[in-house]
Formats: sequence, C-alpha cells, structure tokens
Amino acid sequence: MDVFGLLGNPVDHSLSPPMHEAAYDELGFDARYVTFEPEPDDLAAAIDGAAALGITGLNVTIPFKQDALDLVEPDDLAARIGAVNTIDFSNSAAEQPTGYNTDAAGALRALREHEVTIENAAAVVVGAGGAGRAISFALSDAGADVAIANRTESTAHDLAADVPGATGHDLAADTLDSLLAQADVLVNATSVGMEDGATPVPADALHAELVVMDAVYRPLETRLLRDAAAVGAQTVDGAWMLLYQGVEAFELWTGRDAPVDEMNRALRSRL
Ligand code: NAP
Repeated sequence: MDVFGLLGNPVDHSLSPPMHEAAYDELGFDARYVTFEPEPDDLAAAIDGAAALGITGLNVTIPFKQDALDLVEPDDLAARIGAVNTIDFSNSAAEQPTGYNTDAAGALRALREHEVTIENAAAVVVGAGGAGRAISFALSDAGADVAIANRTESTAHDLAADVPGATGHDLAADTLDSLLAQADVLVNATSVGMEDGATPVPADALHAELVVMDAVYRPLETRLLRDAAAVGAQTVDGAWMLLYQGVEAFELWTGRDAPVDEMNRALRSRL
C-alpha cells in the first residue's frame, strides 16, 4: 500500500484526505492519505521519519511550509517562492526528498481551467503572505504583469522585488481603485473574507471586465466574490485553487492524470 499524507498543525479540518482518497478509489489504487500533526520543533524528524518509513509523498501546510524548504531539495519555483507544500520521496538515491510548491501551479490551473488568459494580463494580487507569494510568482512566470497590494506595504515591496516585473502597493481604497481600473485579473490572497461580510477590496473598485479569484474557500462564496458577481465580473472560488494544488501534487507523486471530477466532487461535498 502507498501512504501519502499531510504535515501541518493543526490538520483536523483538512479536506485533503477525502480529496486524494477519492482519486485512489476512482483509479483503484491501494493507497491511503493520512494527516500528521508534529510539534513545530519536530519537522525535520517528521520528514526523516517519513522517508525511513517509505511514505510516498507528503503535503505540507501551516506552519511548516517555509521551514520545510531547508529540509528538501526544492525545485526552482519552490526555491523562489520560499515555501514547499508538496514533498516527493520517490528518488531514494537523493540525499533529500524533492520539494515543490503546487499552490502556485494550482492557482494558475484554476484560472486556466476557467478559460482565463494569463499571458499579458494585468493582474492584481491582494496579499503578500504565503499564498500571495505563490500566486504572484505563478502569474508572473505565466506572462502576466503583476501588481501586489498588501496591508503591510513594505511586504508588498519586498515581494515585488523578487517577482520579475512586479510592483508593490498599499491596500488603500484609492490605490485599489486605480490598479483595478486597468486590471484583467484580481486575486485575493489575504485571509480577509473568512469572517463573513469582510472584504479586502471595496465593491466600487470592481468592474465587469475583471476575473476575480479568491484563495479563501471557507466560506466558498465570500463577500468579494458576491460583490464581483454583482457587477458582472467572472468569479473563481477558492476551492478551485485548493483542488488544483491537490491535483498537481497527485500528478507529481503518481505520474498519472488525476481524476479531477471525482476529487472536485469529494472536496465540494464537504464545503
Ligand atoms: P499568511 O501567510 O498568514 O498571509 C496573510 C495575508 O493576509 C497577508 O498578506 C496579510 O497582510 C493579509 N491580512 C491578514 N489580515 C488582514 C486584514 N485584516 N486586512 C488586510 N490584510 C490582511 O496566510 P496565507 O497562507 O498566505 O493564506 C492567506 C489565505 O489564503 C488564507 O485564507 C488561506 O486559507 C488561503 N489559502 C488558500 C489556498 C487554496 O488552495 N485555496 C492555499 C493557500 C492559502 P499583512 O502582511 O499586512 O499581515
């Protein structure tokens, strides 16, 4: 049996086990997806232990995504983002397992599966934490012009300095107004929206030519997405990014196309 899993703390509300196990069921894999909750100081021991036990692959979530970078051989994108959310143990000859950041590829695939053109798009990413970093690099690598707006403006400037061609901004209403007037794509990568009724972007800055994606998936329909739909903008909810980061991890680990519809059904039935 292949064992996959998730390292995080806490992990009790994770949707990854049902999502991945739906894929194993669909493809007839003899596999399980298990959650692990090591103490923050035990991350290195947990990754060494997983390798020793023959675990095939691990996802990594809060609070371990940044620290995991030093414990794996990251691919180029994960190294630039500075965080790893997927570890592949299949290369047993290597000194360290390989680390990837499928949040980046997942966000991109979520947009592309909704027929959003990224190449040469003007994109505004609100938020410059872990999700904001992954999404900004992904959009820039795919050919978008990226503007990053963040409550702590200096963090937006720091990230913009790392992302080719990107600019950093504050989160003031007039800044968002002028950035979004020119924009094709808006992504919320802040945690604002998890509390019902909160939004990081005033409704009057939105317009019908925008595609608006939210990384927040609890609730699925955030106030930002409601406001965006009300002005006629296309919306992409946060479960799509969650789905496709899992799909990308599944495909890295197994080398097989993921059964996306079954994974999506398993995920959405629990949201
Ligand atoms: P993080 O690293 O802690 O970053 C949080 C971000 O939110 C920072 O930019 C922070 O700004 C901003 N923020 C927090 N409270 C704010 C407020 N009241 N007003 C304005 N900005 C505020 O968190 P993360 O890992 O990036 O996650 C962010 C969100 O994305 C979470 O809701 C998470 O669940 C979601 N997420 C979704 C997926 C997915 O697959 N759908 C994947 C990853 C994350 P400052 O820098 O000013 O603090």
